[in-house]
Amino acid sequence: MNSSMNHYKEPAPILDKENPFESMMERFEIAAKIIGLDQGIYNYLKAPTKQVITSVPIVMDDGKLEVFEGYRVIHNDILGPSKGGIRYAPDVTLDEMKALAAWMTWKCAIVNIPFGGAKGGIKCDPSLMSQNELERLTRRFTSNMLDVFGPDRDIPAPDMNTNEQTMAWIMDTYSMHSKKTETAVVTGKPTLIGGSLGRKEATGRGVMTVALGALSKIGIKPENAVAAIQGFGNVGSITAHALYEKGVKVVALSDINGAIFNSNGFNIAELIEHVERHKTLIDYQNAEVISNEELLELQCDILIPAAKEDQITSKNAKKLKCKIIAEGANGPTTAKADPILQTKGILVIPDILTNAGGVTVSYFEWVQDRMGYFWTLDRVNRRLDRMMHEAFVNVYKSAAKYDVSLRIGAYIIAIEKVAQTLKLRGIYA
Ligand code: GLU
Repeated sequence: MNSSMNHYKEPAPILDKENPFESMMERFEIAAKIIGLDQGIYNYLKAPTKQVITSVPIVMDDGKLEVFEGYRVIHNDILGPSKGGIRYAPDVTLDEMKALAAWMTWKCAIVNIPFGGAKGGIKCDPSLMSQNELERLTRRFTSNMLDVFGPDRDIPAPDMNTNEQTMAWIMDTYSMHSKKTETAVVTGKPTLIGGSLGRKEATGRGVMTVALGALSKIGIKPENAVAAIQGFGNVGSITAHALYEKGVKVVALSDINGAIFNSNGFNIAELIEHVERHKTLIDYQNAEVISNEELLELQCDILIPAAKEDQITSKNAKKLKCKIIAEGANGPTTAKADPILQTKGILVIPDILTNAGGVTVSYFEWVQDRMGYFWTLDRVNRRLDRMMHEAFVNVYKSAAKYDVSLRIGAYIIAIEKVAQTLKLRGIYA
């Protein structure tokens, strides 16, 4: 690579579509243009390194054969083995995987861990499947991916509708083929089989760290802050609990069945127990049932979308009344909503920073597995807090240096890091 290469040319305008890959590329293009990214490197980063689509046949409990479609996209592995979750959902698409894989590349670069980015998924409805069917699906998918996964190649983790048990099945299937136990092939495993303390709570703890950082930037003390959180899965519930413990008043929460509101704030510990017993928060006492749209449009200090992509769009962005958005989910805001939020003066802490606590502790888990030496929870949390804080400070500095939003500041850090690494390593031919 040398400096005589072409400079980045402005791409054709993207239509007002709310496709996650296009949303990702729109931000990437803005950042690339600001730093004058070389056209060759732009092309290299735009195209995922590898995209696998595999057919996953399994025999269902009733004896019938069903065939599912599985995906794994490796966006880039120049910084190290690729890393990223695997999700099970009926609406999984290759484009979504491509966006999520690229976001993993940027996320790992921002928190400064030696991983590339990947994402996988299976198009299925896990709510309609038995544990045995899910186990067969996971094992067959893993066996199809034996030449993709590996502790030094590509390392999956939990994501939407997958969990510690799913990771245990992947680890076991891979290990059976390797003829030895390979704990480092996945992260987010149960602690009994090489998981890390604090991994399950890591994303939520990281969201809390950056949310408190953002509140302090605008001069609001946690005990005076009001939050609304969309989603009560692993990320939403742990974030809610972590903020509640810091004195933040969480006035609204939601799950797939709807949203609840109480202007006095919820006791999150009690709410978590309620959800364990009732499987939903919608029938919780002392709460007003509101719609998902109402939750997003509430007057509050901090709004935390911690559910899915494309929740804050060009259609509802103008109605938002929060001061800060901390993106717990991946891609909850579309690219078309960004300028609207900026004009309104809402401080957006981007997903690729906000939810990077999960992959950070995944990195700790991988390190511990390879050392065969396991850390205390206190050590995991201290290191996580430090790395999230450093990433937060760096994103702020980058945004100030280029006079851009925190999101574009974050993309710039990530793109520069990957581009510099590529220049050093060069292209093998
Ligand atoms: N699925 C999580 C994410 O989107 C975690 C990925 C990982 O730990 O590899 O960040």
